[in-house]
Amino acid sequence: MKYKPVIGLEVHVELKTNSKMFCACSADYFGQEPNTHTCPVCLGLPGALPYPNKRAIDWCVLIGLALNCEIPLFSKFDRKNYFYPDLVKGYQISQYDKPFCINGFLTLSNGKKIRIRRVHMEEDTGKLIHSTLEGEKVSLIDFNRSGVPLVEIVTEPDFETGTEVKEYLQKLQQLVRYLNVSNADMERGNMRLEPNISLQKPNSNKLPVYKVEVKNINSFAFVEKAINFEIKRQSEILDTGKIPLQETRGFVEKNSSTVSQRTKEEASDYRYFPEPDIPPIRWTKLQIGKLKSLMPELPDAKAKRFQQQYRLLYNDSTILTETKNYADYFEEAVRNAKDKLTPKQIANFIINRKVNIDDLQPAKLIAKILDTNKTNVIDTEELKTIVKAVIKANPNIKIDFTKGKQNVIQFAIGQVMYKVKRKIDVEKVRELIMEELT
Ligand code: ADP
Ligand code: MG
Ligand code: ZN
Repeated sequence: MKYKPVIGLEVHVELKTNSKMFCACSADYFGQEPNTHTCPVCLGLPGALPYPNKRAIDWCVLIGLALNCEIPLFSKFDRKNYFYPDLVKGYQISQYDKPFCINGFLTLSNGKKIRIRRVHMEEDTGKLIHSTLEGEKVSLIDFNRSGVPLVEIVTEPDFETGTEVKEYLQKLQQLVRYLNVSNADMERGNMRLEPNISLQKPNSNKLPVYKVEVKNINSFAFVEKAINFEIKRQSEILDTGKIPLQETRGFVEKNSSTVSQRTKEEASDYRYFPEPDIPPIRWTKLQIGKLKSLMPELPDAKAKRFQQQYRLLYNDSTILTETKNYADYFEEAVRNAKDKLTPKQIANFIINRKVNIDDLQPAKLIAKILDTNKTNVIDTEELKTIVKAVIKANPNIKIDFTKGKQNVIQFAIGQVMYKVKRKIDVEKVRELIMEELT
């Protein structure tokens, strides 16, 4: 690659508070009759006054803390002015120069730290619905979403590939779900993202003088496609000696491309000024400390603990901590097992058999594992010897497995079963083969 991709991300996360950001209307707008969750405040009627949602602000700070941010003790809201039909007041209440959280980071699995520039609080807009009424094309506006609390998380331009961006997004989604502050569902629009992409010339260490923002990306898979398309498009322009236009482009799903939408506005176009109807916010260190103490154990820390406390492998610990419920289920099962099973045996069973945690209570799971083990009329050591012999006699098993050919495992299982000549638990055989091979 001739040029080095420089990518920064802006992510919006809708909080799942009961009420909206600045009024008492229900924030649970999904699938509701249009314009039934509204009041003078979120309809932007003259004279209506905003009243900030404390829980939303606490949750915004919690997200910042989970992203290793500093929480300045002084913060305020600002008006971001622009005109669009889904924005009733003609401005959005947001935060400009004094956001709730600054200077954090999120660590990717390869150890790379993505710097978080800021995490701030704002309000969502209404929703435009384009449809046809009595043969006429119309645009309708639903204000149920207007004023729903929204947290924006902005990174420094630290990503170099779409893959890094995708992992960051998955980790961020996992974090806010662990914190239980957002459903972070892409399909429902609870989580929205905009990558900014530019290319750095060789031997340059300055940020490119332009950047391209891509909108309309509604899945993690598309973000990689959009980025790859932009990298190719921008390199072709740079190759001709020109500089790509600084603009906002829209992702087009059907051919994984992007098209120009508008030239990018500058911060000065928004005429930001302090929100006069909401006093600035001053925190005490004690208040921030209290919020910190509310923080649950986060996924990375939990995975690490699982490795140490339960002697699990990195991969297994990552799988079991994917959701908090899954991790809690595993630990509950470990407690139930007393000393009858090792945590590793339990982990293997849950993962290999893709146990549905909603179908099988932890205590029942333990009973099931013990029962399965009982039907093994074969001693583990004896089985291990057979597995070793089969792998030794068929060198291709190891070679193919190393090449990533998963179906060679099926062949190995067949060979072992043939030698055992009794009906034994296939999963146990699979486990021992995997143990031998990894
Ligand atoms: P704007 O004021 O246009 O919103 P910001 O400086 O606030 O621009 O940055 C918005 C996002 O763009 C951030 O995530 C930032 O990391 C990213 N960004 C900034 N400069 C570049 C660049 N040259 N290339 C790619 N992304 C960039
Ligand atoms: Mg911006
Ligand atoms: Zn309202």
